[in-house]
Order: sequence, then C-alpha cells, then structure tokens
Amino acid sequence: MILVSACLAGINCKYNGKNNLNQIIQEMVKRGEAVPFCPEQLGGAPTPRIPCEIKSGTGEDVLAGRCQVINKKGEGVTSILIKGAEESLKLAQMINPQKIILKERSPSCGKTMIYDGTFTGRKIPGMGVTAALLKKHGFNLLTEEDFKEN
Ligand code: SF4
Repeated sequence: MILVSACLAGINCKYNGKNNLNQIIQEMVKRGEAVPFCPEQLGGAPTPRIPCEIKSGTGEDVLAGRCQVINKKGEGVTSILIKGAEESLKLAQMINPQKIILKERSPSCGKTMIYDGTFTGRKIPGMGVTAALLKKHGFNLLTEEDFKEN
C-alpha cells in the first residue's frame, strides 16, 4: 500500500479549497493501491484556510520546538501542524506503506523544499512538519515530482 498527499489525488483539501491533481497519483488511488491523507485537515484546520509557512526554520525545527508555523495573518498554527503530523504518523503506522508520496513545498508535506516563512514565494531546502516526523520514523518518502505526467 502507498500513502499519498490527498491534494495530489484531486481532493480539494488545499488552503484555497482546490487541489494539486496529478493524474498518475489519482490513478493509484482509483486502483486501490494508494490511500489519500491531508495532514492539515487531520490536524483540525478548516478548508479553505489562510495559508501558512514555517518561520525561520524547517519541519525538524518545529518538532524540536525551535520555531513556529504562522499563517499569512501572523497567527500561530504550530499546534495544528504538529497534531496533523502525529495523526498522519498514526495512519502510516497502521498501514505500514512501502512508500509515501508527498506534495513538495508544503509546510506539512514538503520533502526537500519549503517556503521560507516570508510569504514572498522564496523557498529554502527543508522538510515540512509531517514529512519530518514520517522520516524520523523511517518511512520511505517520495514527492509528486517523482511521478511526472508526460
Ligand atoms: Fe496537500 Fe499536504 Fe497541504 Fe493537505 S497538507 S493540502 S495533503 S500539501
């Protein structure tokens, strides 16, 4: 079994109420090979929601209590992203997937790049909060960029 960021499967769980459909990944769900999940919804965030970014750090830093996640209005949403990561880990431990395909650049799902917390579109190397927790527990992480549509 595979776990996939739900927005990649076409589920409208993104902050703006839309999705990041990748047809290859949606087909995996249709064939019953993959289960979609959205960490931010699992953490209790509404949809649509104000976009958020990790301020001055990465998902590892958030888990270690070294930095916070804020939304575009400047409100702290760290506890939502941590709860989402913990619930996602619980799901992964139940399913024990051979791989988890995550949406790159998200403050929850990003695997190699995230936005830098300034809401200016600038990116830095680093993982989102859920990706960092899943990696810490030894799960095999991939991104949608490993499943490019032709
Ligand atoms: Fe997609 Fe992950 Fe953001 Fe949910 S938290 S909308 S699954 S990138």
